Amino acid sequence: MDPPGRVIESFLRTHGGYFCVDCLTRVLDIPGGQISMILRRLQQSGSCRAQIGTCSHCGRRMPVVGRAEEAS
Ligand SMILES: [Zn+2]
Repeated sequence: MDPPGRVIESFLRTHGGYFCVDCLTRVLDIPGGQISMILRRLQQSGSCRAQIGTCSHCGRRMPVVGRAEEAS
């Protein structure tokens, strides 16, 4: 996986909760377009999942992504 992907994945793993792309862009300082691309890849690999929910950072209700739940 490329470095930005690793950054996003480890951010989601350390912080928990769900974040919107806007907040990930600001917090991680990665361009939004790149974030969307990486998130799509992470979702395909099952490392994170997307849903409509409340962003843990800005509190807005919108599409958010978070770490995939562990099975157990
Ligand atoms: Zn947000």
